[in-house]
Amino acid sequence: MAKKKEPKNKKSVSNEEFNLYQVAMGQFEKAAALMKLNPVVHTILSQPKNEIIVNFPVKMDDGSFKLFKGYRIQHNNALGPYKGGIRFHPEVALDEVKALAAWMTWKCALVNIPFGGAKGGIKFRPWEHSQDEMMRITRRFTFALGNNIGPEFDIPAPDVGTNEQIMVWMMDTYISLRNASDAHASKHIVTGKSLSSGGSLGRKKATGQGVFYMIDQWAKDNKLDLSKSTFSVQGYGNVGSNAAMILSKTGAKLVAVQDHKGCIYNKDGINAVKLAEYVKNNGSVDGFSGAKKFGKNDFWKTKVDIIIPAALENQITPEVANMIDAKLIAEGANGPTSKEGEDILLKKGITVLPDILANSGGVIVSYFEWVQNKKSEHWDLEEVDFKLKKLILRAYEKTRDTVKEYKTDWRTGAYIVAIRRLEKIYLERGIFP
Ligand code: GLU
Repeated sequence: MAKKKEPKNKKSVSNEEFNLYQVAMGQFEKAAALMKLNPVVHTILSQPKNEIIVNFPVKMDDGSFKLFKGYRIQHNNALGPYKGGIRFHPEVALDEVKALAAWMTWKCALVNIPFGGAKGGIKFRPWEHSQDEMMRITRRFTFALGNNIGPEFDIPAPDVGTNEQIMVWMMDTYISLRNASDAHASKHIVTGKSLSSGGSLGRKKATGQGVFYMIDQWAKDNKLDLSKSTFSVQGYGNVGSNAAMILSKTGAKLVAVQDHKGCIYNKDGINAVKLAEYVKNNGSVDGFSGAKKFGKNDFWKTKVDIIIPAALENQITPEVANMIDAKLIAEGANGPTSKEGEDILLKKGITVLPDILANSGGVIVSYFEWVQNKKSEHWDLEEVDFKLKKLILRAYEKTRDTVKEYKTDWRTGAYIVAIRRLEKIYLERGIFP
C-alpha cells in the first residue's frame, strides 16, 4: 500500500509520542555526559523528589460539581525551598509538570538564587470559567495542597494561564487556614502577587525584561546593531508582549507575531505597545489593524534577526526549524524547541539562548519579592531592574565561558553551570544517612 503523504504542517513527533519529560531528560543527559557528572548525583537528579497529585471537587455557578486534577511536582530542594509556577491549561499532565519542575531546578541553580525547583498545575480550560469559579478552583486547589506548600518550603508563582489575581487568592487561602498571628509572616507563600497584596515592582515585566537583557548582551557580543534589527514573537501574553515592548525601545523592528488565533505581519514594524493594548481587549493579535494577516508557516519563514518563542513547549519542531532564517532564538517560553528542531537550528549556525537562562528574569524577581516580604521592605523599580540585570548577566557570562570551555551549545553550557552547583553541594553534604 502506498504511504500517505505527510501533511505539511504536521509535527514530526505526534502528541501521543511527544513526552516533555523525555525532552528535559535528554538535555540533562547530554550535559551530564559532557561534564562527567558524579554518578550518584546523576541518579538523584534524574527524578523529582516528590510528585503530588490531588483530585478535588469544586462547585460551579449552576450548582453542579466538577472534579479537578491538580499537580505539584517538587523536583529538588538542595539549594533552597522548592520554587516554581502554577499552570492552568488543558494540556497539563504529570510528565509535563515533571519537566517544568526540573527546568526550575536548573534555572534557579544557573542564576544562583537560593531556591530549588518545582512546578504545579491544574488540567482544565480556564477560559471556560467565570471569575467566581476560577476563585473557587484556585482556593480548593490551595486547600488540597495543604502543608505541601509553605513560605519556607515550596513557593508557587504565576505561569501559563495564571496571574496576579490567582496568586493573591492562593495567598489568602493559605493565610486563612493558619493562625491569625502568622498571617503577615506568611505573605511570601507565593510570588507574582499584585503590588497592593505584597508583590514587587517589576515582577510582571520581569521575564520579558530578562529576555531583553539576554538579547542585548548577545547582540553586543556578536556585533548585531539592535536599532537596525528585526524580530518576531510567538505568543503575545505577559512574556511575549513585555519582551517586545522593551526590545522595540532600542529601535528593533517587530515584524511578525503569532498567537493561538492567528498571525500578523508588517514589514514596516508593528507597534508593540498598541498591540499589547489590543490583545488585552480582544484576547488575541488576530484582527489588529496595524498589520496584515498571514499564515502560520509564513510566520516561521519570515526572515528576522531574532525570534522570541513565548508561547508553549514543542513549537520549534524539525519542520519549523527548517523554515527558520534568523540569527538568534531567545526562549521566552519553557521548552519551545524540540531536540530535533534544535539540532537543525545549531547546524544552520543559529544560536539558541535556552529557556533556563533567557526566561529566568521571572523567578529572579520572584526571589526579590520573597526577600522583600520577609524583610517588610519595598524596593523601587530601579533597584529591582539593577539587581535583575546583575544576576542574569552573571549567569549569561558563566554560560558563555562554559560554552567556550566545553565547545558546546548554549543550552548544554547553561545546564553544566547549573548542575555543577548542585553536584558541589551534594558532594560536600553527602547523602544521608
Ligand atoms: N513560571 C515562571 C517560570 O517558569 C516563574 C516561576 C517563579 O517565579 O517562581 O520561570
